[in-house]
Amino acid sequence: MSTVKDIKKIFPDIPDRISGLGELAYNLWWSWHTEARMLFKMLSRTDWKVSVHNPVKMLHEAGKDVMDAASKDPKFLRHYDAVMAKFNAGINTDSGWFRSNVAAHEILPVAYFSAEYGLHHSLPFYAGGLGFLAGDFLKECSDLGVPMVAVGFMYPGGYVRQRVTPDGWQEGESEVVDRENAPIRRVLDDKGEPLSVKIPFIRPPVYAEVWKVHVGRVSLYLMDTDLDINDPWNRGISARLYIGGPEQRLRQEIVLGIGGAEILNTLGIRHSILHLNEGHPAFAILERIRERVEAGQDFEKASAEVRATTIFTTHTPVPAGHDVFPFSLMEKYFHDYWPALGLDRDGFMQMGMSPENPAAGFNMTAFAMRMSEYRNAVSRRHGEVTRRMWRSLWPGVSEEDIPVASVTNGIHIPTWIEPRIQLLLNKYMDMDWLNEQDVPETWKLIEDIPDEEIWKTHYWLKMKLIIRIRERARQRWLRDSADPRIILASGVLLDPNALTLGFARRFAAYKRASLILHNIDRLRKLLNDPWRPVQIIFAGKAHPEDEPGKHLLQQVFVAAKDASFGGHIAFVEDYDEQLAQYLVHGVDVWLNNPLPPLEACGTSGMKASLNGVPNLSILDGWWIEGFNGKNGWAFGGDGGEDGDRRDSEAIYDILEKELVPLYYTVDDDGIPHGWVRVMKEAMISTAPRFSARRMVKEYVGKFYGNILKSGGQP
Ligand SMILES: *Cc1c(COP(=O)(O)O)cnc(C)c1O
Repeated sequence: MSTVKDIKKIFPDIPDRISGLGELAYNLWWSWHTEARMLFKMLSRTDWKVSVHNPVKMLHEAGKDVMDAASKDPKFLRHYDAVMAKFNAGINTDSGWFRSNVAAHEILPVAYFSAEYGLHHSLPFYAGGLGFLAGDFLKECSDLGVPMVAVGFMYPGGYVRQRVTPDGWQEGESEVVDRENAPIRRVLDDKGEPLSVKIPFIRPPVYAEVWKVHVGRVSLYLMDTDLDINDPWNRGISARLYIGGPEQRLRQEIVLGIGGAEILNTLGIRHSILHLNEGHPAFAILERIRERVEAGQDFEKASAEVRATTIFTTHTPVPAGHDVFPFSLMEKYFHDYWPALGLDRDGFMQMGMSPENPAAGFNMTAFAMRMSEYRNAVSRRHGEVTRRMWRSLWPGVSEEDIPVASVTNGIHIPTWIEPRIQLLLNKYMDMDWLNEQDVPETWKLIEDIPDEEIWKTHYWLKMKLIIRIRERARQRWLRDSADPRIILASGVLLDPNALTLGFARRFAAYKRASLILHNIDRLRKLLNDPWRPVQIIFAGKAHPEDEPGKHLLQQVFVAAKDASFGGHIAFVEDYDEQLAQYLVHGVDVWLNNPLPPLEACGTSGMKASLNGVPNLSILDGWWIEGFNGKNGWAFGGDGGEDGDRRDSEAIYDILEKELVPLYYTVDDDGIPHGWVRVMKEAMISTAPRFSARRMVKEYVGKFYGNILKSGGQP
């Protein structure tokens, strides 16, 4: 029923000969195919840069002359034809691994619900790891041909540009997403007007408009409540990720789950399986039950059917990550809803009671755990922690038998591999290596790459990172005449020849960003060694309402501007997907030291490892599975008393005794062969196992496939 606006009307200046550029710009497929990125760059290097690698913005701004010239340039046209052929062949097909191995016939798609998606920096609809996991998941489902439709929020005020004051306090400048220049398109109704959907059961009514993102073959629908027709309180529902205040948060989750289900219905999209990425969208379960009850089933039968086709993935052992809503609020919003399910108040509330603390309110995780047949944590250790955490839901069942599986997260390799590294692999590995990326043997061929080539490539990437950091500092200096201490702290004194540690993630307390500052004197000695200097690059945002997180950031910033460290500590503002790419490609070591067992999995370390940047990490999350004694360094992991002191000392010890000597032991040819050995081992051992390909195949094998086999079509 609904359509999106004709591409020709959006980009009237594109000549017919290259009109496919418009369609390509609106499909994020371009972002994980090097040759497609190259195509936009070839069109106009300057506009590509000015648009910050956003092809929609670029096509709007490049101008007719640029387009006309390109449409007559044989070299551009050859490249264009090759990319479009690959794009069309990849998009307009049902074939692929899923078709060949799981379901030979057409099936209804899986509906994937998530509060955030990290797909590209031009779509700032993410806060951190949860979002990138969801984004990588969709891209891999597209690559493998898993039929999928996804639902989430378009956060129009989603982007908070991070600025730090001279004394290290994080301030946010909220930037409104420029909807017309982002790779998203408004979904229109039959009359060509923006499709507007009324969220069922909320009063006064809330309306949402819908934006569509093409993620290869997967469609992602994003809801937007920032509409004139909504009153300000309702407009704010989708303004920002994880807004404060329980009531607004509840309303946000109602819109995500119940509204999301309504949007799929309005669009006429039926689904076979519901996959909930974290508890935020779990109310979608209710809508699926309500529809069946409305069609005449009783609650028992309807909920059993829904449960049998629902998967719930839990992502965090941190208590604040699990929403619990007071019963009074639940009553306010759901008193009309439970009769529609054929339930009374108690029956309804019981679905969300945590047996350990039933009076606390409606617990979204307990609810999702109860109402999904398939549940999983996101690493082996997180599986153990989750089973212990939720054992009260299964009284009498021993801990190992609690029905919560684990599927360790993975990263989308074409998104996170650096193009130069990719070229190097093309040269030494079988040309089809990307198709065989989850086969360990594929990666063993890295052994054959001469150390010198790996080292030179890495050095080039490190230079690129440092140049990029200087460029950001220059812009900040130019634009704001920022306090010189801010400029000095932001990495202008970094030395490309010094051993460089990277630490970039959200500034949440459990991630302990300031741990390495625990013994300042010992650290100062390490960093300032005149012959074997070490430097650390920090980046990351604190949640705008997280005071302890902001204090941690301030501690790091104060160290970065402290002259006694000689510029060996840098804090780079405004961590986002693009900066993450530079960092995981360009530092020498990726540092991670959360408080165990609170890191459910972690994925930035996988991105680093894939690019030959070994991890120095605490034994928690994925690193328990990933560390093999040769591919990086590990410490701690058992928690206990005085953990900060012990863990920080373990880091200093490893740096002083192992890491620094190995890095600076260079042979006559100028190459640190021992170090390159670790780099190669990091790539070989982690790339296949921690790929999104392995992960999605595991989800299909353990869950989707089972549901389809048992005839689980609704
Ligand atoms: C990968 C990624 C994350 C998640 O990494 P963690 O290791 O889980 O902290 C967060 N933010 C960005 C920008 C990322 O690219």
